Amino acid sequence: MGRSVLVTGGNRGIGLAIARAFAEQGDKVAVTHRGSGAPDGLFGVRCDVTNAASVDAAFTEVEDAHGPVEVLIANAGITDDTLLMRMDEEQFTTVIDANLTGAWRVTKRATRNMLKARFGRIVYISSVVGMLGSPGQVNYAASKSGMIGMARSITRELGGRGITANVVAPGFVATDMTEQLTDERRKQILGSVPAGRYGTTDEIAAAVTFLASDAAGYINGAVLPVDGGLGMGH
Ligand code: NDP
Repeated sequence: MGRSVLVTGGNRGIGLAIARAFAEQGDKVAVTHRGSGAPDGLFGVRCDVTNAASVDAAFTEVEDAHGPVEVLIANAGITDDTLLMRMDEEQFTTVIDANLTGAWRVTKRATRNMLKARFGRIVYISSVVGMLGSPGQVNYAASKSGMIGMARSITRELGGRGITANVVAPGFVATDMTEQLTDERRKQILGSVPAGRYGTTDEIAAAVTFLASDAAGYINGAVLPVDGGLGMGH
């Protein structure tokens, strides 16, 4: 405990619950935000994950305050849903840039010091739709399954240096993001969740803190679904 943890998009939603869970167990937690400021009691750095210079500056700020990042949670993400036939190239690339390339940018910056320390924990917040697919989310689902290939390649490259890279795949969790879905789509999703309810942000956070713990040191390149059975283990 007492590790330097960075949660991208930790200013609200799932990221905030993750940040609070690490803080509660005694870690030094930093969250990124894009102007909202940091939530009470958490150290905030301004960072847009679509911009490498912004990522670099944020890491430098965290390093000055808490030391090199030992635990990285790539949580920042966006949606821009529409059917393939209506999706323009910008809608596709913007979502990929924020969700997947953004995760790559922070990983690349973090692993520099993780390699020196021969220790690191990286957790990607993917989604059940990365494995199941989802109509209207070709861009988002592709970005989320991309995280699995990324985590597994990093595991192969850096697994021998004390670094783990794992994926948490949440199902439906009530946040600002899912607020954007139509009532009809929400009912449809809920109807296919064996648990019969949405997940909570704390339930996602519990899986993330576990994968970042010492107890999970031999878990690498894994995908942990937290979805009430929606993806049935995929
Ligand atoms: P929210 O919309 O509530 O929060 C999104 C977070 O990402 C915000 O903190 C936002 O920052 C940040 N963010 C977005 N774009 C950028 C960027 N370019 N640079 C830095 N930060 C950025 O979403 P959730 O909390 O619901 O989602 C968190 C993660 O969980 C996402 O990756 C999402 O795909 C994933 N997920 C969510 C599910 C759900 O049901 N809610 C299900 C499965 C996965 P800001 O406040 O500045 O906008």
